[in-house]
Order: sequence, then C-alpha cells, then structure tokens
Amino acid sequence: MADCKSNYTFENWAHTLKFKPERFCEPASEADVIAIVKDALARGETVRTQGGGHSWSDFVVTDKTLIQLDKLNKGLIADVLKRRYTVQAGIRLKDLINNLALDGLAMKNLGSMTEQSIAGAISTGTHGTGLRLGNISSSIVGMKLVTGTGDLLTIKESDGDLLDAARVSIGTLGIITEVTIEVVPLYDLDHNTYFCKFDDVIDKIDTLNQENERFLIWWLVAPIGPKDNCCAR
Ligand SMILES: Cc1cc2nc3c(=O)[nH]c(=O)nc-3n(C[C@H](O)[C@H](O)[C@H](O)COP(=O)(O)OP(=O)(O)OC[C@H]3O[C@@H](n4cnc5c(N)ncnc54)[C@H](O)[C@@H]3O)c2cc1C
Repeated sequence: MADCKSNYTFENWAHTLKFKPERFCEPASEADVIAIVKDALARGETVRTQGGGHSWSDFVVTDKTLIQLDKLNKGLIADVLKRRYTVQAGIRLKDLINNLALDGLAMKNLGSMTEQSIAGAISTGTHGTGLRLGNISSSIVGMKLVTGTGDLLTIKESDGDLLDAARVSIGTLGIITEVTIEVVPLYDLDHNTYFCKFDDVIDKIDTLNQENERFLIWWLVAPIGPKDNCCAR
C-alpha cells in the first residue's frame, strides 16, 4: 500500500487555495493508485489528484483523500523512429524535456514555465502560443488511467472520442498514470523580445500571429508598469 500521511497541508503556487485533506498519499506504482481508489471506494469516498499545484482552480480540494504522483515520474519507452514517448504521468515538464533532449527529441509546444506535471498540464488544457501549434494535450496520443471504480483503462491513439475526452479532463475521469506523447526532433528557437505599446501590438496582432511561429505578449499592468506598456516576443 502507498505511503499516506495525515498531517499534510496543500497550498497552490498562487497561495489562493489551502486545505488539509484527511489523507495525503504518494503512490509509487499503478497498483498503489488502484489500491488507494478501492480503499476510498470501500468507505464510500472519492479521491482527488494533484500535480504540481500550479492551478488556480479548486478541482483538487477535498477533506478526504488527496494523492500526488511525484513518485511516478519515469520515462518508459522512447520510440525515436515513430516519435512517440511514453512516460509516467507524475513527471514534471522540466524533467520530461531534459529526458527527451537526451534522445534528440522535444515537445512540439510548451507554456511559459515547466514546473507542472505532464498530467496536470494536459488536464487543464495548458497552452503555449502559435496559430499552427496545438496545446500540450493535443500531443497526447495515448494514456492509462485508473477509473473511479479502481479499474485500469488503457486509451489508445485509435480511441478517438475517449482520447479527446480524457486529454483535458481536469481530474474528473480518473487518475492518469501514464501518457504517450507525440514528440518532434530536438530544435532551437530563435527568440527576440521587444518593449512596445499595448495598442500598437493589438493593431497588428493578426499579422504578428501569422508571421511568427510563436508570439506572446506580456501586458505590464501596474504595479509592474504603466498600463499601456507590454513586452512582446
Ligand atoms: C507561474 C505559472 C505560469 C503558468 N503558465 C501557463 C502558460 O503559459 N500556459 C497555460 O496554459 N497555463 C499556464 N499556467 C497554468 C498551469 O499550466 C496549469 O494550472 C496546470 O494545470 C498546472 O499543472 P500542475 O501539474 O501544477 O497541476 P495541478 O494544479 O496540481 O492540477 C491541475 C488539474 O490537473 C488534475 N490532475 C493532476 N494530476 C492528475 C493526474 N495524474 N490524473 C488526473 N488528473 C490530474 C488535477 O486534479 C487538477 O484538476 C501557469 C501557472 C503558473 C502558476
């Protein structure tokens, strides 16, 4: 059975959510995850899953069992020819991209930081930029999840609707234990940053989006800067 404790306080990155679940468990295997769900089910309770705790939404809040998959963080299969990478779902994006680089591979797209777990990032539709690049979940081509009844469900690339539903499921379809990601060859990005006026960028936003593979604006509102300044890259 997994390592569970009772004196854990969850607090998210922004310090906007804080609670103490009755039980906090860190499973070290898929079998542990199944045992935790069945144990909760036997008591008529449910289980919530947290990743890196970077979300502002309160989907993880519970007074019963909270689990975190930080110990399920291994790379499993790198199929370099087919550009598929299978990994345990608790891995943080920063570790995932380091592992991929060792095999000459990379994620198609990422957001502005990489502290999130892959399961947490896909579950909320975390996105980067780029009109022709999808969000992170659009790269997911398969996964395993433990359902609310403690069954292990394997979802394949050919399972169209089911895969689409599971990709951005905010923890409600089950606990994702493994994902297979469509990856691309390792690449370098040429990256420029400019300070500009907000209205000027908005006037040209369609052109800037068309002409750049990726385009991002940081709007520097007070107290960081006057409200018409922004940083474009
Ligand atoms: C500084 C900062 C920068 C950010 N930048 C961006 C950005 O550039 N683009 C963007 O789109 N978003 C961005 N975000 C939002 C962030 O990517 C999302 O909130 C993401 O969900 C956080 O992942 P996490 O691992 O911390 O998950 P958590 O916040 O811990 O969980 C998020 C959701 O995923 C579910 N979940 C987690 N693990 C599992 C699992 N194993 N199985 C099933 N469900 C699971 C949880 O139940 C919950 O519903 C940013 C957030 C911060 C704090």
